[in-house]
Amino acid sequence: YYPETDSISYTTLSRFPPVKLLPPSQRKRILVTGGAGFVGSHLVDRLMVLGHEVTVIDNFFTGSKTTVSHWIGHPNFEMVRHDVVEPFMIECDQIYHLACPASPPHYQFNAVKTIKTSFMGTLNMLGLAKRTKARFLITSTSEVYGDPEVHPQHEDYWGHVNPIGPRACYDEGKRVAETLTYGFQRQDGVDVRVARIFNTYGPRMNPADGRVVSNFIVQALKGEDMTVFGDGTQTRSFQYIHDLIDGLIALMNSPESRPVNIGNSDEFTIGDFAELVREIVEKVQDEDGVKRSRSVNIIYKEIPTDDPQKRRPDTTRAKETLDWQPKWTTRMGLEEMIRYYKAKMEEGSL
Ligand code: NAD
Ligand code: UDP
Repeated sequence: YYPETDSISYTTLSRFPPVKLLPPSQRKRILVTGGAGFVGSHLVDRLMVLGHEVTVIDNFFTGSKTTVSHWIGHPNFEMVRHDVVEPFMIECDQIYHLACPASPPHYQFNAVKTIKTSFMGTLNMLGLAKRTKARFLITSTSEVYGDPEVHPQHEDYWGHVNPIGPRACYDEGKRVAETLTYGFQRQDGVDVRVARIFNTYGPRMNPADGRVVSNFIVQALKGEDMTVFGDGTQTRSFQYIHDLIDGLIALMNSPESRPVNIGNSDEFTIGDFAELVREIVEKVQDEDGVKRSRSVNIIYKEIPTDDPQKRRPDTTRAKETLDWQPKWTTRMGLEEMIRYYKAKMEEGSL
């Protein structure tokens, strides 16, 4: 029991990170689906530290209990093994709906399950939002723009998606999830938020999940060849996880119900990005006195089907309506991420 008070202090239950002591009128009951995944676990950390009550539901397909295990036993935290394809009942004020595999090898592993997760999972969570009158935020993706013909991508662009290709389970899944979201808004008055997230990286990203940032860093740290798919001229822009979490929380608590791009607009060709990762890995290794006989090689492999040629967010809307813009440069974020993986490697868990 926390007494009703306007003063904010911090509570330290010795074995947990300190959290804000919020008066009950400000403390929200927040459901995070997919909260044991990479993005979800960082969001959970932030919401907990801000003093809210957080419930995670996750089926642990790509996530892991260890990402949020530091909160287990805290009175403000609960975790339930649950698949969002099945309905879930809870009283809550806000729902962050993240549950969905996000890396191409994972979401293509069982394409039908990915579509079910996007469609039925979102339907179930919107039903819950309707019943509880909770505000609902879905983490959509830049993939709704497909292989874009407009550059950079603004929220008003309708996209260019192959509906039957190997990426369609994810791209079309998120597109229909957005359609459902706005259907519930129009028909049932559900209070919705839609974040279109662009490529994001950071600590706790599963090193084996196949995405380019984790692949390149792990390869360079281990002295293995770095694998560029295609000729490396395709582009992406990479946002650091803490910027994304700032953006998601700002969006949830803003009045903006249109889709909002959240991403970093520093665009790299994948070839240049491989060189940048190699350079920063070598800098970190040199600083730490790690012996290296030579620079790792960059090799070229076949490009996956339907791999988008270019991608960069237009983040004007986020800046104007949320007063949000990224604070982490790609260099700063990569250095943090490299140090994190390097420490994991040294303790033998990578
Ligand atoms: P992730 O794979 O690390 O996390 C997804 C989480 O959802 C995992 O914990 C997984 O176990 C859980 N999950 C998957 N299917 C589920 C189901 N049916 N029921 C319950 N839980 C389920 O991925 P992430 O990078 O943390 O992505 C989180 C969200 O952000 C996803 O919705 C993704 O589409 C979106 N997103 C991420 C990025 C990115 O670059 N990381 C970019 C665009 C969009
Ligand atoms: N990529 C690469 N080497 C890898 C993994 C990915 O060159 O080891 C490329 C991939 O083909 C794509 C880009 O990097 O062009 C980003 O891939 P990722 O899977 O991280 O994200 P997405 O394609 O969903 O943007």
